Amino acid sequence: TAGPSTTPAPATTTSSTNPAPVPNKDSRIHTHSHIKGLGLSPEGHALPTGQGFVGQAQAREALGLHLGLLRSGKYSGRPLLLVGPPGTGKTALSLALSQELGARVPFCPMVGSEVFSGEVKKTEVLSGGFRRAIGLRIKETKEVYEGEVTELTPAEAENPLSGYGKTISHVIVGLKTAKGTKQLRLDPTIYESLQKERVVVGDVIYIEANTGAVKRVGRSDAYATEYDLEAEEYVPLPKGDVHKRKEIVQDVTLHDLDMANARPQGGQDIMSVMGQLVRGGRTEITDKLRREINKVVDRYIEQGVAELVPGVLFIDEVHMLDMECFTFLNRALESPMSPYVVLASNRGNCVIRGTETEGLGQAGIVSPHGIPMDLLDRCMIVRTYPYKRDEVKHVLETRCRVEGLDVSPEALDKLAEEGVNSSLRYALQLLTPASIIAKMSGRNQIDVQDIGEMNSLFLDAKRSAGVLLEQEGKGAW
Ligand code: ATP
Repeated sequence: TAGPSTTPAPATTTSSTNPAPVPNKDSRIHTHSHIKGLGLSPEGHALPTGQGFVGQAQAREALGLHLGLLRSGKYSGRPLLLVGPPGTGKTALSLALSQELGARVPFCPMVGSEVFSGEVKKTEVLSGGFRRAIGLRIKETKEVYEGEVTELTPAEAENPLSGYGKTISHVIVGLKTAKGTKQLRLDPTIYESLQKERVVVGDVIYIEANTGAVKRVGRSDAYATEYDLEAEEYVPLPKGDVHKRKEIVQDVTLHDLDMANARPQGGQDIMSVMGQLVRGGRTEITDKLRREINKVVDRYIEQGVAELVPGVLFIDEVHMLDMECFTFLNRALESPMSPYVVLASNRGNCVIRGTETEGLGQAGIVSPHGIPMDLLDRCMIVRTYPYKRDEVKHVLETRCRVEGLDVSPEALDKLAEEGVNSSLRYALQLLTPASIIAKMSGRNQIDVQDIGEMNSLFLDAKRSAGVLLEQEGKGAW
């Protein structure tokens, strides 16, 4: 495909003389982005606050212990079950577990009810989740250009095309290493890859010499003081020459391979090549395709080209799964290609879905958290508890820092109270809309009145349930 003929987006055209723009990559804030790990001491004790975590000490320590067992490799096939009220950090805990396992370990969060999509078989949805949570690390030695980006300009063609202005004949990228800077003239198709990776000045990248595939490694540590250190991975300036042979580690998930092989693209970049593992044109992922991919993956592992990286599959609201799903889970957990599974529920005793027999009037089997006993027996169960006011306040402060929000001390107290009365999640959810209300009143700081206004506009789950109960008797709904 031809290079873009329009002026490139400002984020990707930065000249070497201007300071680098604020990285725009992480501006879409993820609700768990402050969580970086379990926040444990080397002895495995939960630090009062650590790696974004506050409180929930018992659960964090239990997960630390579980992590040790997983690392020792003796604990596969035994899921972890987190039990506790909504918003008590079950998702955050399982994310932290995956982060502790390694930076590029896959994390796949799911919700039990997702399996009832109607279009796809339930076990198919679960299967997809399992494969999203299993990584494959492929190692190759390749010829690359590596350095810190100092310049990135699409240079206009010497010969303008007739009709619609000009095309780009090449892209100039300045790459800096500790030894010096080199300018590369690149094919315009590489420009698309640079855009896709959202490369800006100050990023450390490498470009594969024969495929033109671009990989963003991180930002140069020269920028470490200018920007929020937590937001980005900083890497030192590459030492040697811009052009070198480098061992490239590519992380993909089995699901990526399924997708790539179901819709082969026929290109030269790693995913296209990996998409040609299995011959034949297909449009969907089938069991047969997965089995064939597994065979190729096994061969790669035997040859030492690739290594399996089990990640974390998190299934929230596990009580929503039914008997058929639990049977599948039991079997999948025993497979040698299984990720670490973390289940979560906020229910006590409830009916296992799919055990009710309609017509016969049988109410179904009641079991803790709606999980069959045989699976429950295999689980390590960890409880999470509601947060205290100070803890809620601390999480709110952390989130404000991450999101760049200014909150008055009174507003913070009010939010903490909301968090205790309702849930931490509700208090956190109020932050962004409250900041919008503050802005509309011409203020940068969220004030206590903004929280009051939020409360008049929205109901938390408990108040909503209360209103319903009140109205029920009056037949108003
Ligand atoms: P649910 O069961 O309803 O899905 P949950 O128990 O999974 O809820 P989370 O989604 O993990 O709860 O937590 C809600 C929010 O609070 C998230 O943004 C999460 O990162 C944050 N959070 C929860 N617990 C902590 C904690 N101990 N320290 C810091 N942040 C936390």
